[in-house]
Amino acid sequence: MQTVTHWINGTQAEQAADSRFGEITNPATGKVSGRVAFASTATVGEAVSAAAAAFPAWRDTSLARRVQILFNFRELLNARKGELAAIITAEHGKVLDDAFGEISRGQEIVEFACGIPHILKGGYTENASTKVDVHSIRQPLGVAAVISPFNFPAMVPMWFFPMAIASGNTVVLKPSEKDPTAANWMAELWHEAGLPAGVFNVVHGDKEAVDALLDHPEIKSVSFVGSTPIAKYVYERGTAHGKRVQALGGAKNHMLVLPDADLDLAADAAVNAGFGAAGERCMAISAIVAVESVADELVAKIAERTRTLRVGDGMRGCDMGPLVTAAHRDRVAGYIDAGEAAGASLVLDGRHVSPDAEGDGFFLNPTLFDHVTPEMSIYTDEIFGPVLSVVRVPGYDEGLQLINDNPYGNGTAIFTNDGGAARRFENEVQVGMVGINVPIPVPMAYYSFGGWKNSLFGDTHAHGAEGVHFFTRGKVVTSRWLDPSHGGINLGFPQNA
Ligand code: NAD
Repeated sequence: MQTVTHWINGTQAEQAADSRFGEITNPATGKVSGRVAFASTATVGEAVSAAAAAFPAWRDTSLARRVQILFNFRELLNARKGELAAIITAEHGKVLDDAFGEISRGQEIVEFACGIPHILKGGYTENASTKVDVHSIRQPLGVAAVISPFNFPAMVPMWFFPMAIASGNTVVLKPSEKDPTAANWMAELWHEAGLPAGVFNVVHGDKEAVDALLDHPEIKSVSFVGSTPIAKYVYERGTAHGKRVQALGGAKNHMLVLPDADLDLAADAAVNAGFGAAGERCMAISAIVAVESVADELVAKIAERTRTLRVGDGMRGCDMGPLVTAAHRDRVAGYIDAGEAAGASLVLDGRHVSPDAEGDGFFLNPTLFDHVTPEMSIYTDEIFGPVLSVVRVPGYDEGLQLINDNPYGNGTAIFTNDGGAARRFENEVQVGMVGINVPIPVPMAYYSFGGWKNSLFGDTHAHGAEGVHFFTRGKVVTSRWLDPSHGGINLGFPQNA
């Protein structure tokens, strides 16, 4: 059995000095495949010291050299992504195709970061005042912490670390303890790509490691992704220590289906976005808001498609894999019990499952509820599992109101053939990422990813221009080179002339 240890200063420790460990489990078989060291405060301190020591030289490494290393990383990742996909499926459970999909979306950020010389360019104003020039530059912060969730063990870290490293920072990543191996695999790849030791470090662990990062004076920024209560906690504790924090939280994503929508397209989208990765995506659709006049037909089409899904081990070409842990499977099953008890119509009951898998994996079948009302826990809570709830509304206005009243605001979608309705929705909806006839509107790398309301604490979204902004701070330089018109002493406040 493997033991996953920390990656500090360009190498993975042979043995962890820590006294606490967690189990790594294959969710498709229920078998324990290894253990992961849980960093103590002292171990986190070692990683931060390594990153802090590497910072001055990395900050001064030319953009040309940084970009060469980023290109190397991109080439290695592209050539060897099959290894990473297999690791993700074995520890997270998502089907192999989906693991490849996550890697390709992460790779896009690496590719975007390869253009850092262009993105980092500042402005220049000649002769702002007579013979005075002004220019702006952006400089890295220092050591950046990245704390990531279990559901995208490769993509979510890649939302941040390519941008942080390209901008001249050094990084300490604390991935989820549920699927830790992907982070070390990526650390090894950086090493092969030629990244100097200490620029990218990985510490594993739980709350103790996170708290140590939030409190450490050498950590200058924190990029967190996870559930809303922890995101809020990380934001408050990190900012209380004077750090720059972006903390992305949970979600409850709604898909509004208007009567003029293409219902086959909408039903396909609902199934893909509701049950892909067993609903363990922050951009999963969990609430279908159907206008009453088309709700019966839409529910029938969703049910018909859902019945065809094959559930099982992600290495066997199935459509949907297991939940990440037995505890999470039981929690999701508990929501199905609660929805039934609250009086929602159970169209498809996922509690009865015979997966295509060996052993005792953590499976549920897709579940579809109709006639869900906003007070039910299956509506109010982020279930993070393969449970789709249909809420019926009289029309557009009530659907929009429901979405805007929800405390989360990560992603949403509208399905319609009416351009005017789509345009109104785009303008009126209080959500950070909006799809029009697109169910999972994950922005491209050169835009920025992030939600509103309880889905993001902080004011900067991930990657794109906002990512570069987050990992750098601005400086404005005003310069004058003396010439014979030197004006002599003047104690007044500088005025332009
Ligand atoms: P989680 O909040 O349990 O864990 C996230 C990270 O926080 C992990 O690294 C974990 O070790 C750490 N952590 C857990 N408990 C902690 C505590 N008490 N104190 C300090 N740190 C702690 O989330 P998860 O279950 O790994 O991931 C699923 C959640 O992440 C869902 O809510 C999902 O919506 C959210 N998510 C959001 C986005 C987004 O972009 N908004 C993206 C992916 C996932």
